[in-house]
Amino acid sequence: MAEALGHPRYGYYTGRDPLGNDGDFITAPEISQMFGELIGLWCAVVWQAIGRPDPVNLVELGPGRGTLIADGLRAAARMAPEFPSALKLHLVETSPVLRDRQRQALAPIHPRIRPSWHRNLSSVPPNPVLVVANEFFDALPVRQYVRAADGWRERVVGLSPDGEHFQFLPGSVVATDPVPAAAAGGEGDLVEVCPDGNATAAAIGEQVASNGGAALIIDYGHSRSAPGDTLQAVRRHAFADVLDQPGEIDLTHHVDFEALALAASAAGARAYGPIPQGVFLGRLGIEHRAETLLKSASPDQAVDIHAALRRLVHPGEMGELFKAIAIAHPDHPPPPGFG
Ligand code: SAH
Repeated sequence: MAEALGHPRYGYYTGRDPLGNDGDFITAPEISQMFGELIGLWCAVVWQAIGRPDPVNLVELGPGRGTLIADGLRAAARMAPEFPSALKLHLVETSPVLRDRQRQALAPIHPRIRPSWHRNLSSVPPNPVLVVANEFFDALPVRQYVRAADGWRERVVGLSPDGEHFQFLPGSVVATDPVPAAAAGGEGDLVEVCPDGNATAAAIGEQVASNGGAALIIDYGHSRSAPGDTLQAVRRHAFADVLDQPGEIDLTHHVDFEALALAASAAGARAYGPIPQGVFLGRLGIEHRAETLLKSASPDQAVDIHAALRRLVHPGEMGELFKAIAIAHPDHPPPPGFG
């Protein structure tokens, strides 16, 4: 999964912009400006609540086209004009194509905001920090373990007997128990573990606990660790075979929010949620924002605004499967939406 997505030459994210109607999938910030705006306001309100630190790092993990951060900064600057001057923007992104898109999206926003790019969190300097990640953790590679009679075996990828295709194969028995106790199932059960995701949540927890600040993670996934095969492939807005056309299809898994919360808490931070995306956006006032936009909308735009609102919050669309957790310094008040 790591190679298929991140290989420096053939990786899925390396050479393309996969987002949008003409691409493979669409994300919340690409559906409506309301999403990024509310998250930008969330950041500004947290910044005010923790004493307006200057400088403050604003870090986005996997910013895609930069739409969320551009919409967010535009909204935040209107509500808290001092916020843009205090912040240092750090974008964690491996894809050169998407780094370019992010540069373009941010250029018109604020002359003093010059982002710096990182391959991961470890090179971001130690300051109070606000972290935002939408649909980032689902793209980090998972390991899958199957419970056999003699212990946990990793499910590995090998070649079919004719050498023409990839196929799943049972690996050898793993010496140390790889699976969180909460997910331990019976024989035949498959459990996923995302070491990069857990390490990233731990790094966020550490930064927040030692320098102050908060993080907001939004993704699709489950509230509790549990057995289940959630690895999936998408191409042109339809499901595909996960082993077919590596590097040409998007691979993701459902995020285990309990594992992320545990990793962040073990590092000294406090985790809140998860709560469903629809509930979270409702608490931040998305209905109110939609009403304001509708006042100056053409009839066609009004149809789009109603459709986007429904798509983001309705439980049958993205409102329930997508969830939000916050990670904050234990002495800070609960972040907006989690109180
Ligand atoms: N947050 C954006 C994009 C989501 S797609 C949105 O909501 O629209 C996933 C993003 O994470 C892309 O920008 C992709 O290039 C980036 N990404 C994927 N794996 C990564 C990794 N291992 N390290 C850094 N960025 C990664």
